[in-house]
Amino acid sequence: MAKPKVFVSRIIPEKGQKMITDACDAEIWQDDQPTPRAVLLEKIKDCEGLLCLLTEKIDAELLDAAPKLKVVANLAVGFDNIDVPECTKRGVLIGNTPGVLTETTADFAFTLLMATARRVVEGDNYTRAGKWLTWGPMILVGQDIHHATLGLIGLGRIGSEMAKRAKGFSMKVMYYDPFRREDLEKELGLVYADLDTILRESDFVSIHVPLMKETHHLMNAENFKKMKKTAILINSARGPIVDTMALNDALRAGTIGGAGLDVTDPEPIPMDHPLLGAPNCVIAPHIASGSVNTRSNMSIMAAQNILAGLTGADMPAPVNQADVRKAAKK
Ligand code: NAP
Repeated sequence: MAKPKVFVSRIIPEKGQKMITDACDAEIWQDDQPTPRAVLLEKIKDCEGLLCLLTEKIDAELLDAAPKLKVVANLAVGFDNIDVPECTKRGVLIGNTPGVLTETTADFAFTLLMATARRVVEGDNYTRAGKWLTWGPMILVGQDIHHATLGLIGLGRIGSEMAKRAKGFSMKVMYYDPFRREDLEKELGLVYADLDTILRESDFVSIHVPLMKETHHLMNAENFKKMKKTAILINSARGPIVDTMALNDALRAGTIGGAGLDVTDPEPIPMDHPLLGAPNCVIAPHIASGSVNTRSNMSIMAAQNILAGLTGADMPAPVNQADVRKAAKK
């Protein structure tokens, strides 16, 4: 029997890639840059499976171009690049990679928090520029992390792991999430609060919500004004949750004290973007889940999603499988 055709939109870690190439008639895009849209639409026209990244927009146009498509596996936990209702309407299954990247992403969010608070990037630039001429009591002083207050927006998988890390630094941790976690409040001594209280009282505000209509520009000019002048914003979730130009203004005007970002809007950030010149802003190129083990585990989970979706088996990390099955029964 012919193997199902699958397109993989970038080179992925070996384990996941091998699972797909062993079981499928797979084509893997070999370039470091995303598959150009027109090429992607052509490549998937006979495909039953697509393994994609958040750089690929999965919308009605793409689904029209791929009439045989059964399953889309996103190599990410966030799936804001995918039009879920449109896929469900057409019976196309979606899978993501939750869980396997949780701790690695929280590690990096905490790294950003520390790097921004203690001015690590500025310090490295200072050393390399030959400015380190003596020890000085006023040189590159930053903000304390220990015993400071961390406000978490979103206490899901990654937010909870961020809370655990903060507890190791004797931080007071407050959180806002529509779903209250009294178990974690007890276990970790977390304080539940509304968004305004978090913005007002936190030394660090860290975002861990998905990008949705409701969270788009959640951090805007109005909310920056509610924060402490010394407060640092950490965003390792998705760029458009923060109004980038409002953040740029807030950093330049001293409305807030700094920002540590793994994600931006737009992404990648253009080299002439004003945020690159804003003070106390550390920007990483969307690498929070980027450890060797985690990326390998993400590739395995994405491959398992593809293979299960192709055979109609339960996907390990389904986004809409229940809804697609329900619709099929009607
Ligand atoms: P998760 O377990 O689903 O956690 C998200 C939490 O946010 C949930 O508890 C959710 O509550 C809550 N939430 C939703 N809307 C909210 C709002 N308006 N205000 C406050 N809380 C809200 O997801 P996760 O695995 O922690 O991942 C979170 C996000 O991080 C992903 O969606 C992804 O975009 C991003 N991410 C980025 C990277 C990176 O490389 N930078 C890596 C991994 C993940 P309910 O469950 O009640 O809706």
